[in-house]
Amino acid sequence: MPITLTINDRPIEAVAGQTILEAARANGIVIPTLCYHPALPIVGSCRLCIVEVEGARTPQAACGLVAREGMIVRTETPALARDRRTILELLLANYRDAEYTAADRDDTEFEHWVKLYGAQCPPGSTPRPQRKVNSDPNPFVWVDMNKCILCTRCVRACADVQGRFVWRPNGRGARTDIVAGLETTMLEARCESCGACAAFCPTGALDNKMSVDAGKPDKKVTTTCAYCGVGCQFDLNVKGNRIIRVTSTPNAPVNGMRLCVKGRYGYDFAHHPDRLKRPRVRKYLLETPNSKHQIPKSSLQSEWVEVDWDTAFDITARKLREARDTFGPDSVGVLTSAKCLNEENYLMNKFARQVIGTNNIDHCARL
Ligand code: SF4
Ligand code: SF4
Repeated sequence: MPITLTINDRPIEAVAGQTILEAARANGIVIPTLCYHPALPIVGSCRLCIVEVEGARTPQAACGLVAREGMIVRTETPALARDRRTILELLLANYRDAEYTAADRDDTEFEHWVKLYGAQCPPGSTPRPQRKVNSDPNPFVWVDMNKCILCTRCVRACADVQGRFVWRPNGRGARTDIVAGLETTMLEARCESCGACAAFCPTGALDNKMSVDAGKPDKKVTTTCAYCGVGCQFDLNVKGNRIIRVTSTPNAPVNGMRLCVKGRYGYDFAHHPDRLKRPRVRKYLLETPNSKHQIPKSSLQSEWVEVDWDTAFDITARKLREARDTFGPDSVGVLTSAKCLNEENYLMNKFARQVIGTNNIDHCARL
């Protein structure tokens, strides 16, 4: 049964059980958040999403407040803006930016709200690092807890999304901080370097080590991971024709915000100087096109020569035909890949069974 309520003088229809935040966002109304993320369990700790509800004595956190029939809600008033600025300034009092990132980078979620509400670092606070910058030896995740605002998104991402339970709040009150395991390194605390904690962190306290200083991308290209058959989607962040970062695409149908270490961090091969971009064949194959002639053993190790695709296909077809005709179809085997499309794998099956005439066909299943 739909529910009708009013948000900012607009009649809104919500689904039963939806929160005020969900109903507002579904109708294009922006309510600021920090500890909230739609892919994580709600904790309602940062209070940035407070709204005024007619009849309620105090502002309410919209992330956990279920919409009810006839509710009258306001999401932006001078009093709410003042409260939000105060919340952000309290967070700024413990937020220390060591400025190792590039000058042209995108604002983090936290910086975005700080700028929007005009929050200032409180007078008298000393914004200098109190914790070690780049404090964990994890090869992929950058840790700078000077920027941590204790939203616990990393804790929930690691526990609820990834099931690894690496991060946890440690200590009480003003001395609380976020630590890995029993104050160990991330890897000692069973981290598998999936990068989910960095993807969910709204401040850059956790970031991607490979791209922490890479700056702002020129464009983002949504693509499907080529490593295995799951088909995760993500955005390649491209700058000057080079991939500088992978970011999650929240609406990816298969994986949402999730990625494994290969998908999130295994992209530098694309620019590796050893990467083959054109086919190569052994030189003797070009010199002795009819290889039924005796080939001296030394020629088999002759140098590699770059050729065009037609030449490479011709040689491959000729050698396969020769092997089939000389030694029988079962002398040939076909290995396909999870990196191929279903249609490509179907065609390889037809090629093995109907063109070559063998059932020797297999699949790598994973990488
Ligand atoms: S990288 Fe993944 S496994 Fe490691 S701490 Fe972050 S979320 Fe947990
Ligand atoms: S490290 Fe980032 S995600 Fe984790 S609690 Fe701190 S600010 Fe939140």
